[in-house]
Amino acid sequence: MRISFPRMGYSYIAFKYLVENIGHDCVVPPEPSKKTLDLGVRYSPEFACIPFKILMGTYLEVAEMGADTIITSGGVGPCRAGYYWIMHQQILKELGIEMNIIGFEPPLHDLRDFWKKLKLVWKSGGVSYKEFVRVLQVAWEKLKAIDDLEQLSFHVRPYEVVRGETTRTLWKALEMLDQACTVADIAAARDEGARLLNLVTRDETRDPLRVGIIGEIYVVLEPSANHYLQIMLGEMGVSVDRSIYLTGYCGRNTIVTPEDDVFAMARPYLNEAPIGGHGVNSVGETVLYAKHGFDGVVQLAPFACIPEIVAKSIIPRISRELDIPVLTLFIDEQTGKAGVQTRIEAFIDLLEKRRERKRKGRGRLVV
Ligand code: SF4
Repeated sequence: MRISFPRMGYSYIAFKYLVENIGHDCVVPPEPSKKTLDLGVRYSPEFACIPFKILMGTYLEVAEMGADTIITSGGVGPCRAGYYWIMHQQILKELGIEMNIIGFEPPLHDLRDFWKKLKLVWKSGGVSYKEFVRVLQVAWEKLKAIDDLEQLSFHVRPYEVVRGETTRTLWKALEMLDQACTVADIAAARDEGARLLNLVTRDETRDPLRVGIIGEIYVVLEPSANHYLQIMLGEMGVSVDRSIYLTGYCGRNTIVTPEDDVFAMARPYLNEAPIGGHGVNSVGETVLYAKHGFDGVVQLAPFACIPEIVAKSIIPRISRELDIPVLTLFIDEQTGKAGVQTRIEAFIDLLEKRRERKRKGRGRLVV
C-alpha cells in the first residue's frame, strides 16, 4: 500500500516511521498551505468545519502524490468528526479518485472492527506480529520525544535573544529524531535536542506572561491551522502552555495533568457531558489555568464547532468568577494571519496592563 494520513503538527515524523517500517510506502502529507485549503474548500460542504476542509485538501494532494490508502481516526459521541472519514471517502469517490480510507474508531467502542483494521494494515505490510509491536513502540517513543521537545521550546522561546533561534533549533532537533530508528537512538536524539534548545541564547531578566492554549484538537495541534499562534506568542515574549499533546491526549501533560481531573473542574460550570470534541476539556482547562495563576487563556475554535461554541458560552462566567481573561479565536477559511496577530497583540497588551495593575495593588481590570 502507499499510505498517507492527516498531518497534525510534527507527528508525521512518527507516523512516517510506523508506515515505512511495517512494510508500506509512505506518502508524507505536505504541510497544509493555501493550495490545500483552496482544494478543501472547493470540494467540501460549506457547513463543514475547518479541520474537515483542510483534511479534504490534504487527501486530494496526497492522492496526486500517489497515495492509495489513508489511515485516520473516527470518533464517537455527539461531534460530527465521527462521520468525517466516511464523508471524505464519499467525496473522493464522487471525484473518481480511488482511495481506501481506513478510519480507526476507539478500540473500546468496537474491538472487533479495530482489530480487523489493524490486521489489514499490519498483515498487508508483511512483517511479523512481534516486529509490528516493536515498530509501534518505537513510533510511540518518537511521538513522546516530539512532544517533549515542542513543550521545551515553548518555555525557551519567550527568552530568546535572536528571534527565531528556538524554532530553528527545534527543527534541527526534530530532524535528528526523524533519523533515529531505535528506542535508544530516540532517547539520545531527544537529549541532544533538549541540550541544543537549552543552549539558545536567552535573556533571563524577562518576565514572560503565562498563557494557556485550549480548544479543538486539530486547530490546537496543527500550526498552519492556527497561523503558528504558539510560535507567534513565544516570539512576543509569552510563555505558552498547550493543553493538548498527542501523547498527552492519552494521559500526560503539563498543567493539565492526569491528577487534575479536567471533568471535575468543569462540573460546577458544565454538568452535561459529553458534549463532543474538546468542549468539556476547554471549560475544565480554563478553570485549571486560572487556579494555576496563569495570566490568560486563548481558546482556538473552528468556526461552527458546536463543542467549542458551548464552551465559549460558559467561559465568560469562569472568567468573571476566577478572574482570568480568555480570548476566543474562531478559525475558518477567511481567517488571516494579520487578523490573528492584531487580536493577539491587543490581548497581550491588555494582559500586561492587568498584571502591572495587580502588582501595584490596584485590583482587577475588568475585561
Ligand atoms: S470538534 Fe468541532 S471542529 Fe472538530 S470535528 Fe467536531 S465540530 Fe468539527
